[in-house]
Amino acid sequence: MALVNMRDMLNHAYRGGYAVAAFDLVSLDFLEAIIKAAEASRAPVILSLAESHFEYFDFELAMAATEAAAMRTWAPVAIHLDHGASLESAVKAIRLGCNGVMVDASTRPFEENLERTRAVVDMAHACGVPVEGELGYVAGVEGEDAERHPGEVIYTAPEEATRYVRGTGVDCLAVSVGTVHGRMRGEPQLDFDRLEQINRALGIPLVVHGGTGLSDAQFRRLIERGVTKINYYTALSDAAAERIRENVVSAEPGGYTALVRGMQEPMRAEMQRCIRLWGSENRAEEVLAGCEPWQPVDHVIIYNLPEGTDTTAMMAEGRRVLGAIPGVREVVTGKAVAEGAAYRYCWNVRFCHPAVIDSYRDHPDHIRFADTVFRPAAADRLSIDFRVLRD
Ligand SMILES: [Zn+2]
Repeated sequence: MALVNMRDMLNHAYRGGYAVAAFDLVSLDFLEAIIKAAEASRAPVILSLAESHFEYFDFELAMAATEAAAMRTWAPVAIHLDHGASLESAVKAIRLGCNGVMVDASTRPFEENLERTRAVVDMAHACGVPVEGELGYVAGVEGEDAERHPGEVIYTAPEEATRYVRGTGVDCLAVSVGTVHGRMRGEPQLDFDRLEQINRALGIPLVVHGGTGLSDAQFRRLIERGVTKINYYTALSDAAAERIRENVVSAEPGGYTALVRGMQEPMRAEMQRCIRLWGSENRAEEVLAGCEPWQPVDHVIIYNLPEGTDTTAMMAEGRRVLGAIPGVREVVTGKAVAEGAAYRYCWNVRFCHPAVIDSYRDHPDHIRFADTVFRPAAADRLSIDFRVLRD
């Protein structure tokens, strides 16, 4: 299990002067290729799922696979919601297992971006989850991701960035300094002076979206100026598509599996090239040593109820009400197998992080349910929070 706190991971990179790759995944092939690249390069990596891609895959199913992959690998990873559109998206992503979320309100006026971002930060920090904001606008030029980011590039203004970071409390900031979503057209012009000013003013990890097409020298100059997370997708998608096109013309007539055969290899090669170039190669051990492991907490209550209580209705209401509180991954209700058990019922409420112990206890929906429904009925009860330990 090498899921680690993304805040620690990015701060480690910021101090160390290198950048962590955030590769967007849109299928199991991408997921497997990212994990294999991270392990082969002994590098930390961010498994990134973009809300703008949710029409290509089922987010909930993809998260189950992504979390399983994060549990199984020894390489340090974080799971990040990329370009989350709303507070609801962020709550859902955390419930499904993301331990980093991006809120993208960058197309809104400044004050509205600040308000929306702060609401997500308040919620996510109460769940122990770090937040990436975006200020300025990284538009799209060409390729599938371009359509998802229409309009003109708006550069990040350093003075606004200071106000935005102070006002929202974001842990890292996506900046617009001349990169574009999708493919570049012509030679990209990056504003390194602007980036340097932003980095000096903020002193927090910076994020670049739209890394495809930049030169090695440009990446190095970005990283020297505080960029510690680089979002990368289009080049991977293009590499996979190129292999599929080769399969179409060269393969014996075959089905789906013949067409996608080998598509992980060129993606993996490109990822390992980036990891090496961005300085995160061979950093896995130091990242593991320097980052908090991402461990959930099980909030366990065992209890008895007076004869005649409608247990089924109470449990169903609890699963619905408590299961919607931010930071709650799952609410399990149970009944003792043995008739004569000392306690006949249980709740097992899984929190994504120990921070949720406090925010759950103080959440108005929990207080209402506990005070009006549960506690009056279940006077005889025991409650313990357990840190979940795993290999
Ligand atoms: Zn992006």
